[in-house]
Amino acid sequence: MPENNLLSERNDQQSPELTLSLCKDLSIALAKFPKVRLGHLPTPLEPMDRLSEILGGPRLWVKRDDCTGLSSGGNKTRKLEYLMADAQAQGADTIITQGATQSNHARQTAAAAAKLGMACHILLEDRTGYNDDSYNLSGNVLMDRLHGATVSKRGGGTDMNAEMATLAEKLLQDGRAPYVIPGGGSNPIGALGYVNCAREIAEQATNIGLKIDAFVHATGSSGTQAGLVTGLAAIRSDIHLLGIGVRAPQEKQEQMVFDLAQRTADYLGTGINIDRAMVRANCDYVGPGYGLPTDGMKEAVKLLARTEGLLFDPVYSGKGLDGLINLVRGGHFGDMENVVFLHTGGSAALFGYPETFDLHGYTE
Ligand SMILES: *Cc1c(COP(=O)(O)O)cnc(C)c1O
Repeated sequence: MPENNLLSERNDQQSPELTLSLCKDLSIALAKFPKVRLGHLPTPLEPMDRLSEILGGPRLWVKRDDCTGLSSGGNKTRKLEYLMADAQAQGADTIITQGATQSNHARQTAAAAAKLGMACHILLEDRTGYNDDSYNLSGNVLMDRLHGATVSKRGGGTDMNAEMATLAEKLLQDGRAPYVIPGGGSNPIGALGYVNCAREIAEQATNIGLKIDAFVHATGSSGTQAGLVTGLAAIRSDIHLLGIGVRAPQEKQEQMVFDLAQRTADYLGTGINIDRAMVRANCDYVGPGYGLPTDGMKEAVKLLARTEGLLFDPVYSGKGLDGLINLVRGGHFGDMENVVFLHTGGSAALFGYPETFDLHGYTE
């Protein structure tokens, strides 16, 4: 993407006072939706000065959504605050959801259900074909079980929505009150969590006098980015938002985000217009496929662990970082001064990939 494009989209006009007042309006709009408190919010916004120095270019920051608190944290917690409240409002006693074997969403959902005293059924799809025990039983899968969820496996390519519907029907017949959460918690209800995050980060930055030029994160089932797009539109922010894809090709990813952002804006009901140009995904860092490691991801995860003491994951945030690092090195951000990476969590999945980093064993 040419740099002038980035710069021409920026609008330095908006005063801090106007930003804060738009944030307040957005809080009021969000307050009409039921929400349960599950996360430690607001999450910290921290500089990554060692990394910035090594890479050159803009000052890099990290928004610590890996520190949302619930069951080792992650981005699904913000979505679950709205989804679980909706489940409670509907009188549900059992949650059903689905994801890949090492799904962070499944783990956070299992924890949320435990905290709220609900049963939880998790259907895991084998998207990688890995048959080692670490991948299939450790990391997130171990934590799903620790939280007391009923966990079952399906083959790759299974129609997971149909599987969830079948299970819901069966549970209904058994006298339960099931509530189905889509993969990644990505629907307009879950996306409200990231509408709220857009407000949170804008307030946080404004309060410390920081002008954020760009905001980068890993994008998958699209709820995170769709929520951010909607929230940033609501507060008329000029932040350059960029999703780094982990599964779908660019056109498909952007369409998914755009569709969900429009539905989220409608659901929020404040007449926000979503501009298609605000939806940008770079899907050059997926590698051979979802959940399959790449060299760039491995280097990025090691670099951040060794320069910033931060843990990222092989499936999402590591590939997102690989994208960020490459784009910084390639001058993508032009003369931008401050770029924030949204850390969406996921380090529990590291234990599902113990041999990926060529560090299996002792140094000496
Ligand atoms: C789910 C997930 C994402 C992607 O978020 P979506 O809302 O599904 O696009 C990114 N990072 C981590 C660690 C995740 O678990």
